[in-house]
Amino acid sequence: MKELAHKNRSAWEVYASAKERKAMRSLAENYVDFISRCKTERETISYVEERLRTAGLKPGMGESGGFQTLYGKALFAVRRGKRPLSEGVRLISAHADSPRLDLKQRPLTEQVGVGQAKTHYYGGIHKYQWLARPLALHGVIVRDNGKSIPVVLGEKPGEAVFTIADLLPHLAKGLSGKTVGDAFEAEKLNLIMGHEPLAPTKPKKGEKEAEKEREPVKAHLLELLHKAYGIREDDLLSAELQAVPAGPASFVGLDEGLIGGYGQDDRICVFTALEAFLAVETPEHATCLIFWDKEEIGSDGATGASSRFFEYCVQDMIAAWEAQTTFRAVMLATRALSGDVHAAVDPDWQDLHEKLNSAFIGHGPCFCKFTGSRGKYGANDANPEYIGWLRGILDKREIPWQMAELGKVDAGGGGTVALFLAAYGMSVIDMGPALLGMHSPFELSSTADLYATKLAYQTFLEN
Ligand code: MN
Ligand code: MN
Repeated sequence: MKELAHKNRSAWEVYASAKERKAMRSLAENYVDFISRCKTERETISYVEERLRTAGLKPGMGESGGFQTLYGKALFAVRRGKRPLSEGVRLISAHADSPRLDLKQRPLTEQVGVGQAKTHYYGGIHKYQWLARPLALHGVIVRDNGKSIPVVLGEKPGEAVFTIADLLPHLAKGLSGKTVGDAFEAEKLNLIMGHEPLAPTKPKKGEKEAEKEREPVKAHLLELLHKAYGIREDDLLSAELQAVPAGPASFVGLDEGLIGGYGQDDRICVFTALEAFLAVETPEHATCLIFWDKEEIGSDGATGASSRFFEYCVQDMIAAWEAQTTFRAVMLATRALSGDVHAAVDPDWQDLHEKLNSAFIGHGPCFCKFTGSRGKYGANDANPEYIGWLRGILDKREIPWQMAELGKVDAGGGGTVALFLAAYGMSVIDMGPALLGMHSPFELSSTADLYATKLAYQTFLEN
């Protein structure tokens, strides 16, 4: 019987009306602008903060809600619901950090007339994807007097970019026999910063000729940095500078049905969760967002999901609104979505997916009951009772969604922050759109999935 069988629906078919396509396009344009501008966790969190302030939310815990940030890299936001906290909150998490190349603390060096910055990669990358492409530098330099200097270089049209030169094929004979893992050395991921040596200063009358600079290109770079920011090499010791793909994100394809850009894992979930949160002005249950940093390197650190930041914020919220309710009562009654992206079946690598249980781009956000690897190791593995409720609320609003796992069993695997939320005893499952080329400098998402994900998150927050 045909009507008894399960079938995933294409979000394009569900949202086919001109009105819906217009809303889809407008959301996508805002998203393209967002990922073009927000390429670090700091930039993402400050964007979110600005949107929250515009919507009338204030730092701290007010009568109707508020938000709190930590070191500019993590953020908790809440809107008070009609029901008490003892009945639980609706929470969406996502992470604001993305794989990239971090500059080392002593980055500047000079070899054979080329000024370079040494890097240490952050998160899971294919190293070769970062070669021979324009890169920008984003981050902060902190002086010893505490003054923080924001840096964004290589993004304005016409502004100079940075890059890592790739080996010419003519001399790559030795590489061809190596595995991808061996062929590209992390210590060769050196960012080209400059080439022009410092002009020697002419001695004044009666003065001796100045000693020749041993590293004149590096000396020139230091001079340029000093002129631009008033800094010395020492100041880079307390800097966080990230090399990220330069330039804006864009629509992809003749039909502009895809969005290409850096950092969509997981800023697409930050964006759609924020849009959904702002759209639900008077929720039934309190609605919360928690945006973390450090997910790509294991969620450790004060701003990562394994820190106590989330707990502190919830405790503040309980103290402000419902001091008689215990923390654990709120947590046990809470329902959460761990917003993170999923791997879409790659048209050219279909054999790595088991297609009955895989996500297809354009078929709406994807639930992942469990992540992990080698026999669900490290997985949250959500409860079927919770999945049943979620299915019900999404289907009632005819929102396309799919259920999938990441690739074939034993083909690889991955983790998310779901288990950190699950540790509190709340109901939680991973849910987010599927990407092509995840973790690459140019990830692809579907404009239809972006729209469906925002509506799915909104439906979740409203129920
Ligand atoms: Mn992610
Ligand atoms: Mn990731």
